[in-house]
Amino acid sequence: MSLFTCDLILRGALLDKETPEDIAISDGRIASIGADLPAAGAVEIDLGGRVVLPGFVDSHIHLDKACLLCRCQHTSGGLKGAIAAVSQLKAEFTADDVYERGRRVVEQAILQGTMHMRAHTEVDPRAGLRSFNAIKQLKSEYRSCLDLQSCVFPQEGLTNDPGASELLLEALSNGADLLGGCPYTDTAPYEQLNWLFKTARDFDVDLDLHLDFDLDPSGSLLDEVCRLTDQTGWHNRVAVGHATKLAAMTEPSFTAHVARLKASGVAVTALPSTDLYLNGRDIGSLSPRGIAPVHLLAEQGITCSIATNNVLNPFTPFGDCSLLRMANLYANCMHLSPDDFDACLSLITHSAARLMGLSDYGVMVGNAADLVVLDATNRLEAFGAIAQPLLGFKSGKQTFERPPARLFRETAK
Ligand SMILES: [Zn+2]
Repeated sequence: MSLFTCDLILRGALLDKETPEDIAISDGRIASIGADLPAAGAVEIDLGGRVVLPGFVDSHIHLDKACLLCRCQHTSGGLKGAIAAVSQLKAEFTADDVYERGRRVVEQAILQGTMHMRAHTEVDPRAGLRSFNAIKQLKSEYRSCLDLQSCVFPQEGLTNDPGASELLLEALSNGADLLGGCPYTDTAPYEQLNWLFKTARDFDVDLDLHLDFDLDPSGSLLDEVCRLTDQTGWHNRVAVGHATKLAAMTEPSFTAHVARLKASGVAVTALPSTDLYLNGRDIGSLSPRGIAPVHLLAEQGITCSIATNNVLNPFTPFGDCSLLRMANLYANCMHLSPDDFDACLSLITHSAARLMGLSDYGVMVGNAADLVVLDATNRLEAFGAIAQPLLGFKSGKQTFERPPARLFRETAK
């Protein structure tokens, strides 16, 4: 009699080897991986050689201002116009309204295979703590399917927005997991950065900043972020999002910034859909892509991610919460080849998990059984064709199912 026991066996899972293997799950963790594992009385699911990846990690998304298309006049004012449009609406947001729009996005993300998420939520005198409280409720109610980190930040500036800092401190005292920032909208960006790093140290929380968001190669705040990271000792605890000046720098300047980021352990997130939509609008028909080349940073050992950012709002009037589609969009825009597809997958899985400080992540014995099954029997094709997620398991429990599409064709008699 076998001493091996488990709750669930996924048979025929294509991991990173040539041939499919079985994954045995016990008490929410991966108990064993190998060929022909004994059934040991477990429930068995045959995956038919389909690709299995660890649950996707969306390290940067705004749930509080998602799904506003029906409520906004279409704005064509770029970044400033988008901030102004949401600022107007924000004062009217109720906790129920934010919860309902956030719920739609969270459920859609779960169905797309996302199992970890960092929600950046605006906390300022217009939003008060209403959005923050709604996200807190979502975090609690969806915890069996999704680990949600709550990152609070001042979208419209800090030093120029009286009352914002007090509200942020209140959120941090009431369950916010980490602190965000947005120095590019502040009249005193250096002052904002100082306050953010001091507060992060006071509360012992990580930082995830909206950094620069334009294609002017000058005036980057990356050096200052690295300096403060070194001074605070916050290595591997600071991430910056957008950082699109990296897409506009000369080669020597880019190389110098890469070395600086690496030395300070500062992570970088690209947000391809928003970066493409908002950047370069004033340049005309030869508009650049305007996305930080995070695959090049990752090659140098910098922790990076690709994330959703916005869904159906003035910042990005697109989105289906598919991280696989977002990474595919990035690869397409950045001229990446199939040799790069695995590295791109890491930007929505392993590397993004590192950025969020997750432990127990990845399809390895002993780790949490957070798994997504894609409708593909080849990893390259899964990435290139944006294969549909068919099944998801969070801590070994099934969280969704999407039956494959079926074709009905009349055949000649
Ligand atoms: Zn953002």
